[in-house]
Order: sequence, then structure tokens, then C-alpha cells
Amino acid sequence: MIDKSYDAIVIGSGITGGWAAKELTEKGLNVLLLDRSPDVKHGIDYKGEHVPSWKLPFYGKDERQLNQRDYFISQHSGVMDASNRHLFNNDRKNPYQYDPKKPFQWIRGGGVGGRSLLWYRQCYRFSEADFKANSDDGHGSQWPIGYSDLAPWYDYVEDFIGVSGQAEGLEQLPDGKFLPPMKMYGIEKTVKQRIEKKIPEITMTIGRTAVLTENHRGRAACHYCGPCERGCSTGSYFSTQSSTLPAARATNRLTLRPDSVVERLEYDPETKRVSIIHVIDAKSGERLQFSSKIVFLCASTIASTQILLNSSSEHFPNGMANSSGVLGKYLMDHTTGIIGSAVFLG
Ligand SMILES: Cc1cc2nc3c(=O)[nH]c(=O)nc-3n(C[C@H](O)[C@H](O)[C@H](O)COP(=O)(O)OP(=O)(O)OC[C@H]3O[C@@H](n4cnc5c(N)ncnc54)[C@H](O)[C@@H]3O)c2cc1C
Repeated sequence: MIDKSYDAIVIGSGITGGWAAKELTEKGLNVLLLDRSPDVKHGIDYKGEHVPSWKLPFYGKDERQLNQRDYFISQHSGVMDASNRHLFNNDRKNPYQYDPKKPFQWIRGGGVGGRSLLWYRQCYRFSEADFKANSDDGHGSQWPIGYSDLAPWYDYVEDFIGVSGQAEGLEQLPDGKFLPPMKMYGIEKTVKQRIEKKIPEITMTIGRTAVLTENHRGRAACHYCGPCERGCSTGSYFSTQSSTLPAARATNRLTLRPDSVVERLEYDPETKRVSIIHVIDAKSGERLQFSSKIVFLCASTIASTQILLNSSSEHFPNGMANSSGVLGKYLMDHTTGIIGSAVFLG
């Protein structure tokens, strides 16, 4: 039996899938949102509660053996601990292969909301220089769009999610529609002053971040309690759960189906459309089939590619939409961040 009750199906409930579900439901479509992971609440730790930083319990030493057995990739994210392990991928249950000479740490979310519950929330716009870098340096192919094409969409997203930051008027780091910036600490102000005195062409600015510095669209301003890595019980930082999912739910046109692993897509060469989405229920093992006019594949860069490569057929022997043969090559994902630190000697 193919379930055809939805106008659109979105695969993956991370940052992109949550947005797709919000936009499509707000435009009047009945949407099924599928995610391979279990449903998790924003800002609830593994005991089912949110604890402000001043009441942080002592979790004891993290369970190194458990991490090495089940979270041998996720543990490298830099933010996983006993309180939020349930938000990360279990690498033993969901493994992947790589060339041992070229190890690759694919940090994945383990709950509905995907990496919107893991990210550091830093939000920067590409500038015109980023779009022209290839042509300026003579590498690769040129971007078919420029900053001016994207700028109104940056506005649209920032206006909804709430991004705090300081406008600086820098060409290489375009300003956005900012909420008030977070204040710098004394030491940060000192470093800023000294840098700008010694190297005036360098601007040090406060991080631009999807954390609310004032109440915004029904969400409360951050109260700086501290343990953001557990999620945010006030919904002050952007995640699918705090922002796009409530908007989609408010339309009464959203059906969220967690624990639904999309195995492959079936293509109908006559209609030239995805005709069936094959799903395995992660809890029962049951095989299910869904169909709709519109399918948004938002399972993240690598997982979406994995699904397309799995979707081979007579028409697409090397994976769906892979007539060029480049599917799975030349891709880039943002799996974590780089953090630098320094000691201030006065
Ligand atoms: C620790 C960390 C810090 C980061 N910090 C930043 C930052 O500061 N700024 C920034 O811009 N970016 C940051 N990123 C990157 C950012 O989180 C990702 O680029 C972004 O979340 C990608 O969104 P997405 O919707 O494509 O994928 P995801 O958010 O990963 O969502 C994909 C969803 O698809 C689901 N899925 C996967 N496979 C299937 C399947 N077969 N069937 C059904 N569902 C499936 C997953 O369960 C998941 O919920 C960070 C990432 C990490 C891990």
C-alpha cells in the first residue's frame, strides 16, 4: 500500500528540512516530515529536564568505554558529553566506511532536529568576494549567482530565526538584519582595542549568532544560563524544535514521522518524477511506501547523496540524478567547527 495522503514530503528534519516543512505548510500544503532519528525535545537532557548552569549536576567522568564503543566519531565533536549523548549519532549502530589513510569524521545528529541541536549557531553571510573567488583565482567553475541574488533571502531567514551581531559595514563580511549584539567581555574589549590600534585595517567583531538577545517572534531572549549544548529550554537559540517546527505545526498541516529511515527513492521515467519513497520503520522494521507530488530531500549533504546513490534503477544505473557521474564527488559538508584559543598575559 502506498500512502498518498500528503501534498509534499520532506526527508530530514535538520536545519534545511525544518525550513522546507515551515515554508510548504505555510503555503497551504499538507506535509509529511520524515526523519530516521527518534523524536527529542529541545532543551531537555537525558534525564528529561533542563538544568540552568548554576545548578549543573556533576555527571561524573564521561563513560569513556561507552564513547569508544558507540560514539567513536561523535565524541570528536567537542560538545558531546553524558548530558547530550542522546542528541548524537550512535556510530556503532549507524556506521560508515572510509579510507583509513584519509579518516573522515562525519558528525551526525541522532534525534529529530538533526544538527540544529548540535551546531555552534555562528551565522555569517557569504560576500561578493566569496562568490567571485573561483573566477578571481582561476579555479573550478564560476558561481551562477552572486551576493545580490542571495541577499534578500539572507534577510528573510535572519528576520525569522533571529541573528544577533554588530553591523560593521565590511565588504568582505556583509551585515545582516541583526538583533542587538552580545556585549564583549572586558578582555575581549581590550584585545579589540589593541588589535585595532596596532593593525587598523583589521576589525574584531562579536560573533554573529542565532541566539536571541531580545524577545523575538514569540521566543524568549537568552538568559545566558550556560549549557547550550544540552539544547535550550527557552528556545532562545535557533533549532528546528525552537523555530521552524512550531511554525509548521501552527498551520495544522504538518505530520512528523520520526524513526523513519528513507532507504531509497523510486523514479518514474514516464512522469519524470520521484514516484515512491521507500521507508523502513526504525523501531518495528516495517517497510513503508509514501508518494507525493513534491519531495524535498534534506537529509544533509552526505546522507542525501547516500539516498540518491541507493536509488539506482534501469533509468539511473549509477544512482538517481547522476548522469554526469559526479554524484558523491566534489561535495563539501560542514560537520563541526574549528576553535582557536590564546592565553592573555596582560
Ligand atoms: C558540532 C557542530 C557545530 C556546528 N557549528 C556550526 C556553526 O556555528 N555555524 C554553521 O553555519 N554551521 C555549523 N555546523 C554545521 C550545521 O550544523 C550544518 O551545516 C547544518 O545543520 C546542516 O543542515 P542539514 O539540514 O543539511 O542537515 P542536518 O541538520 O544534519 O539534518 C539532516 C537530517 O536528516 C536526517 N536523515 C539523515 N539520513 C536520513 C534518512 N536516510 N532517512 C530519513 N532521515 C534522514 C537526520 O536524522 C537529520 O535529522 C555545525 C555542525 C556541528 C556538528
